[in-house]
Amino acid sequence: MGKKHRFETNAVHGNYESSQFLGSLTPPLFQTSTFTFDRAETGEARFSGAEEGMIYSRLGNPTVQLLEDKMAMLEGGEKALAFGSGMAAVSSVLLHFVKQGSHVLCSKGIYGCTYGLLKWLQEKLDITFDLLDMESSEEIEKRLTEKTACIFIETPINPTMEVINLKTVVESAKKYNVPVVVDNTFCSPYLQRPIEWGCDVVIHSATKYIGGHGDVIAGVVVGKEDLINEIARHIRKDIGGVMSPFDAWLLLRGLKTLPVRMERHCENAMKLEEKLIAHHAVEEVIYPKAESTNGQMSGSGGIISFKIRGSKEEAQKLLNSVQLIKVAVSLGDTETLIQHPATMTHAIVPEEERIKMGITDQLIRLSVGLEAWDDIWEDLEQALNQVSLKD
Ligand SMILES: *Cc1c(COP(=O)(O)O)cnc(C)c1O
Repeated sequence: MGKKHRFETNAVHGNYESSQFLGSLTPPLFQTSTFTFDRAETGEARFSGAEEGMIYSRLGNPTVQLLEDKMAMLEGGEKALAFGSGMAAVSSVLLHFVKQGSHVLCSKGIYGCTYGLLKWLQEKLDITFDLLDMESSEEIEKRLTEKTACIFIETPINPTMEVINLKTVVESAKKYNVPVVVDNTFCSPYLQRPIEWGCDVVIHSATKYIGGHGDVIAGVVVGKEDLINEIARHIRKDIGGVMSPFDAWLLLRGLKTLPVRMERHCENAMKLEEKLIAHHAVEEVIYPKAESTNGQMSGSGGIISFKIRGSKEEAQKLLNSVQLIKVAVSLGDTETLIQHPATMTHAIVPEEERIKMGITDQLIRLSVGLEAWDDIWEDLEQALNQVSLKD
């Protein structure tokens, strides 16, 4: 309404008018399952769609809608839809696009459970899927068939942190009229907005940076109004993976500090990257460079992966030696978290595929938190010093 503001301002105020809610400064929590109708005819009009308004919280809830409106604004999309988890968002989008025998073209690495879901759809609906580097348009176009229902990518890829050029993917996809879906969990809309690059759908595990405090499991989908309405009507309503109003309320609160949190996550990660590179127990540090993404990413993010010199035993020893840093999956929290993808988040991926994805036993993923960076480093350094080196 009125003047257009910048991202940081929209994260605080975007799409919320306190005057519509008795002047409440912060968005109110409508913790209710259902809504009363003043007359039978009102119920009839709402169910038929003749009148707008709330019916039942699986179909829509004002607090959840406030979150959806803010997410659509921050991602630069027409409309958003909230889900009870990132995987409910991923599965709803995939179910929308695929049918029996469809093909899905994926980035070389995808979230472990997304991979598991595609495997299950393969058995259930005979869909096929490819994992691809996506480095050139020729490579992408060679793999597109008339059965390709969508291109599904993550960038940076979890946990190997390779960046995919969205412009290249979109150019090829447009030629063949294939929708592009991006799981934008690792960047958050603060660092990367795929819709601005021509992608069709953005997915978030809002569990991560959107919430930012490790206290919610949630997901969001952003895209064109028609597509979002379809998914709302036929998938979210009837399969029912909805977000609870309280979780939406926590996420609305989290979003207000997204820009400042992301700045600090990036700053801490950059300092740790330098230290890690110089440590003798570290063979390679994988951290994307925002400067080399032609503006696609405005910062490098808070996730660093690195390979230690050693095997699975040394990797586990490292995890067993940290004290301040917590051994846990998930990411984007205030606390620094460390995990071993090969035996944790990506254990479901068969070894051969996993190695192809670059997820070896040496690989460690660090989700850099908001603590003082030197405290994080001092803990990581003492743990790295305990990794006994084979060579
Ligand atoms: C965590 C995650 C998901 C799944 O989200 P949940 O909220 O755990 O269901 C999907 N994609 C990526 C990249 C993730 O990190």
